[in-house]
Amino acid sequence: MKRLILFFLLLSCAAGAQQKMIWPDHKTALIVLTYDDALDSQLKTAIPQLDSANLKGTFFLTSELNRITIPKWRAAAAKGHELANHTLFHPCLITTMSDSINAAEKYTVHAIMREIYTMNNFLYAIDGKPERTYAYPCTETAVGGVSYVDTLKKSTLIKYARVGGDMDAVVTDFKKLNPLLVPSYGLGGNNTGDELIAFVKKVEQSGGMGIFMFHGVGGDYITTPAKSHKQLIAYLKEHKKEIWVATFQQAMDYITQANKRE
Ligand SMILES: [Zn+2]
Repeated sequence: MKRLILFFLLLSCAAGAQQKMIWPDHKTALIVLTYDDALDSQLKTAIPQLDSANLKGTFFLTSELNRITIPKWRAAAAKGHELANHTLFHPCLITTMSDSINAAEKYTVHAIMREIYTMNNFLYAIDGKPERTYAYPCTETAVGGVSYVDTLKKSTLIKYARVGGDMDAVVTDFKKLNPLLVPSYGLGGNNTGDELIAFVKKVEQSGGMGIFMFHGVGGDYITTPAKSHKQLIAYLKEHKKEIWVATFQQAMDYITQANKRE
């Protein structure tokens, strides 16, 4: 009997075991840097800091773009940064934003899908790229009380989509990862460089993937101080051999291919 129990115990362990992801070039972890809402401080501070270390970020843009900023975003894309979809008007629940015009309560699934479709075309006009990733505005996966995750998947407008999360949002079980619900560490603002690096170290220890969600960098709102961001970038540059820093699309393309191979 004891033997039988041991056998089943071993069997369940084997079934539950997660296979460690093998990252390119013998790297031990993957970090993705994402920035939401098409903010000026990202153009002014985040992108120059990334460029100085030759690192690429993912920028989830809304239609808050104009003739001054569009050429700047186009130049960022030409350097290898990813421009991604964050809807045209950023609907959120009225409880999470003061502007009632874009209240998610009043939206239908059709209305948000039309915005995602139009924003895709807007982004195509900027960088000419055929494939897009997405971030849910205010990390809400429903509008008017209805989830649109399945509709988004069926539409094939979007390859992968990012949601929110906290410091525990480290992905290690890639088999179970839903590509349209990829968690991220949503920064609350005013984080120190050490706090940002602590998350990276946590991801390194796990051997998995960690995604940062920034808003303002050295300005705008939910602001990460420029100094903290710079400290993080310096750490990532210094540990280039061990840490793979990729755009959201590159990261998820790699994971999708790796899952298919097994
Ligand atoms: Zn947003």
